[in-house]
Amino acid sequence: MLRAAARSTRTFRTQPAALRTTRTFTASCSRLTESFALNSLDTFTEEEEILRESVKRFANEVVGPKVREMDERESMDPGIIKGLFEQGLMGIETGVDHGGAESSFTSAIIAIEELAKVDPSVSVMCDVHNTLVNTVLRQHGTKEQQDQWLPQLSQSKLGSFCLSEAASGSDAFALQTRAEKDGDHWVVNGSKMWITNSYEAEIFLIFANVDPSKGYKGITCFIATKDMGIKIAKKEEKLGIRASSTCTLNFDDLRIPAENVIGGEGKGYKIAIEILNEGRIGIAAQMLGLAQGAFDKAVPYTYQRSQFGQPVGTFQGMAFQLAQASVEIESARLLTYNAARRKEEGKSFTKEAAMAKYWASIIAQRVSGQAIEWAGGVGFTRETGIEKFWRDSKIGAIYEGTSNIQLQTIAKFIQKQYS
Ligand SMILES: Cc1cc2nc3c(=O)[nH]c(=O)nc-3n(C[C@H](O)[C@H](O)[C@H](O)COP(=O)(O)OP(=O)(O)OC[C@H]3O[C@@H](n4cnc5c(N)ncnc54)[C@H](O)[C@@H]3O)c2cc1C
Repeated sequence: MLRAAARSTRTFRTQPAALRTTRTFTASCSRLTESFALNSLDTFTEEEEILRESVKRFANEVVGPKVREMDERESMDPGIIKGLFEQGLMGIETGVDHGGAESSFTSAIIAIEELAKVDPSVSVMCDVHNTLVNTVLRQHGTKEQQDQWLPQLSQSKLGSFCLSEAASGSDAFALQTRAEKDGDHWVVNGSKMWITNSYEAEIFLIFANVDPSKGYKGITCFIATKDMGIKIAKKEEKLGIRASSTCTLNFDDLRIPAENVIGGEGKGYKIAIEILNEGRIGIAAQMLGLAQGAFDKAVPYTYQRSQFGQPVGTFQGMAFQLAQASVEIESARLLTYNAARRKEEGKSFTKEAAMAKYWASIIAQRVSGQAIEWAGGVGFTRETGIEKFWRDSKIGAIYEGTSNIQLQTIAKFIQKQYS
């Protein structure tokens, strides 16, 4: 026994230096895992898992039966907006004190993804409301502003984010809407184009320039309500996400109380840049959910439909396409979750968000387009709903920064690193 112990001691003591190093490294790694949770990217908290299940149920049971009718009528069912509020999905990150769920950013991403699997229109409504409107107020609103607006936005009033104009899209900060001080009010004149949710919304974040001589440094963010006099000039008729309203808004001497400036005069540029960086992760989630929704709808059919005496999904030419598409969806998923977790952890995420949005929008178009072909002629009919995913997918490459703008952002990071 003693001899055996001596032998083993000798073996330990005489092992090469490299092996000793490995042992030390392993030991420090195990200490590290005690303090850091090294998880796969699709690991969620219990709360996030519960949220996913409840959004999935809401999407399938409440949204699902109305998708086709809403698309055909190009309008959002008011019952769905009400349902989103009742489910607590319109104040996901908002504090409990303000009527919200006080959940993680990833929870919002999960909700957007799950809704998009069933209807990308409902998904973007929830996305804009949570990741743009609520977040601007949570991050830049004063205590008084948060107390006034967040409870309404959590519980009953839909929000809109009004930045783009007819002549300023990608070049958003060339906006022409003006605001002039008049006593204890600002008077806003101009118009906004392409504004999501604006037909049903009651609360609007409006970006206007208070001092054009300062260029983008004059851009200021205001909060206003519809009853202050915001006019809907036109509702767009679109290719996809047709149930989601997209309108042109006119402001003719719109009087906004002075205390409704968010984040201070001239801070609108910074607010918009920051918010769109994280908003893009929401659009990536919408496109991810869309791709998965199209896949889930079409693939079962390929195993039910037989030609040449076998299910069409089992022909190698089809099976490999399904496999390829599932890899592509997974890649979009990991990019999206990674960007979301980085944001939550306080790490830089601008490049990762641009990558996630860029890639997820490509995958959404590709998978939903293929899904139509996998289902053959029936995929081409409006009855199956597969073609709708493809129509809806086109917007991913346009709003919250076109694909070229995402590539420009990514390229800037490359240049910074390598030049
Ligand atoms: C359905 C829908 C909903 C929307 N919702 C909102 C909303 O809620 N709030 C809001 O403020 N806005 C919203 N938008 C506006 C959206 O963000 C803009 O449409 C988008 O930023 C692109 O601007 P644009 O349409 O003017 O295209 P443009 O900027 O005119 O771009 C046209 C083409 O030129 C390319 N391009 C432009 N600049 C460059 C460049 N520097 N390098 C390379 N290529 C370039 C673009 O990639 C694009 O392919 C929405 C748009 C749509 C269609």
